[in-house]
Order: sequence, then structure tokens, then C-alpha cells
Amino acid sequence: MEVAKTIQSVRSLVKAARGKGKKIGFVPTMGALHIGHISLIEAAVKKCDFVVVSIFVNPTQFGPGEDFEKYPRPFNDDLKICRNTGVDVVFAPTQRQMYASENLTWVNVEKLTEQLCGRFRPGHFRGVTTVCAKLFNIVAPDIAFFGQKDAQQAFVIKRMVADLHMPIEIVICPTVRQSDGLAVSSRNKYLTEQQKKDATYVYKSLQKCERMIEAGITDTQKITAEMGKILSRAPSIKIEYISIVDAETLQTRDRIGRQVLAAVAVRIGSARLIDNILVDVSKQ
Ligand code: AMP
Repeated sequence: MEVAKTIQSVRSLVKAARGKGKKIGFVPTMGALHIGHISLIEAAVKKCDFVVVSIFVNPTQFGPGEDFEKYPRPFNDDLKICRNTGVDVVFAPTQRQMYASENLTWVNVEKLTEQLCGRFRPGHFRGVTTVCAKLFNIVAPDIAFFGQKDAQQAFVIKRMVADLHMPIEIVICPTVRQSDGLAVSSRNKYLTEQQKKDATYVYKSLQKCERMIEAGITDTQKITAEMGKILSRAPSIKIEYISIVDAETLQTRDRIGRQVLAAVAVRIGSARLIDNILVDVSKQ
């Protein structure tokens, strides 16, 4: 496994692999790798011949007062995980390389970034799409892998790639959960043992939503009210939003129809946690 710290070096490694006819897979991450990231890497290893993982804590997707400074950066552990999962290149650029002293070019996906997390994290998705556009231009993968855990992010990236005609396939991998249902996240490290127990109510609320839809309930207000009740059982949870939106447009709906995305964002202590499920109503 190679560790590329410069744009030039990752480009020449990818160029050599492509020259041998290899299909290039790419997994962008902010490091602090866990089994969620590993599932993406495994999918990439399966589908591609040459896998690049980027590790870059992207400053432009963090808002003022968010956790950019304290975001975990266990770089050596991350390299070990990459080595053990069959990664070919880890691309770990410096901030200076990714952003010139004054970055004047931004990529912004409209509308889709105004709902859900976009309402609470202004500028977040502009940072995500800009860094992904840069990374896609640097790595030039055939396929890039993202997690359903960050559903809106995956959705927005897919739209950016389509709108800008980037020749990249986007594969979305299922959310990896602990046995108690908690979605695995680098930010779970911020939680105390009690808060980790409280955090399991997030997935419980999503399961309740699924059960209600399965039972034929279509009134989204009724469903979100029940989800709120479940979340309120956990003393440390502060709800940011509970939303049921159309899975294709991310628009809020009064009544369930076709495929819906049920998404929850909460604050527990200093952590902001998100989770979601897709419910295919036509199959109920
Ligand atoms: P991050 O390092 O948090 O920016 O995440 C990098 C990628 O890993 C993103 O595409 C995330 O959606 C994905 N990811 C994070 N947690 C999980 C999880 N629990 N299951 C599946 N994918 C995940």
C-alpha cells in the first residue's frame, strides 16, 4: 500500500494503474475509520481493481463552533485498517494542498441542500460538494463509494455528478449498525456510556416509523409525533429534526407515497448524530 501525500503522487499512481487497464475505486473519508468505512472499502475492493481511500478532515464542511478542531485523527490506526482491507493507495493531503490560501471556486447543489441537515448546517453541503469535486478531479475514479448513513450527502453528490457530467459511478452502501442498532459513526467517540445507550433511541424511532408505515399509517405528522415520543425517552437527546421526505426529491410530504426517507438528527452532549431509513411504500 502506498501513502500519497501530494496530488501529484496520487495522480501518477492512479495513472499507472489505469494504464494497466485497472478499474479505479475511490472511498472519500475524513479518517477515524470504523466498520462503516470498512464496508465501503470492501465494496470497492470487490467491484474495482485498484482502490484509493482519501483521509482528509475537510475544514470547509464544518461550521463555526462545530468540531473541526477536535475531530479524531488517529492516522496510524487508519493506515493499519487500510492495509488490512486491501487498499492500494491512501491519499492524505494537507489542507494547503486542497485549498489555496483563498479558494474562490465553489460547487453548490441547490434546493436539495436546503432541507434536512442543510437547514441546520448552513454551508456544510457546499463544503462537501466542493471537496468531493476536487477529490474526483484529483483521483479520477471510475466508481466512488458513499454510505447511506449520510443519505442527504449521497443524494447531493449523485446530483452533482449528474449535473456536471462527471464520468463517475456513485455507489451507495447500506448503513452499518452496532448490534443495538446505533449507526456506527466517528462522532460516537464523543459519547459517554449512558449517552451511547440514549443514542440507540434514534434507530428505535426510525423502526417505529417503519412499523407505522407497514401498518398502513400515511399521516406523516402522526408518525413523526410518535417518533418524537420515543426520542423523548432518552434524557440526553435534544431533537434537531425528525423528517419524512420523498426519497427522490427530499421534499417534505404530508402523506406517505412511494419511497420515503425517514431522517433524524439529534444532539447528545457535544455530539450531533444523524440516522435514516428508506421505506419502500409500494412494497408494503
Ligand atoms: P466520514 O469519514 O464520516 O466523512 O464518512 C466517509 C464515508 O463513510 C461517507 O460516505 C459516509 O456516509 C460513510 N459512512 C460513515 N458511517 C457509516 C456507516 N455507519 N455505515 C455506512 N457508511 C458509513
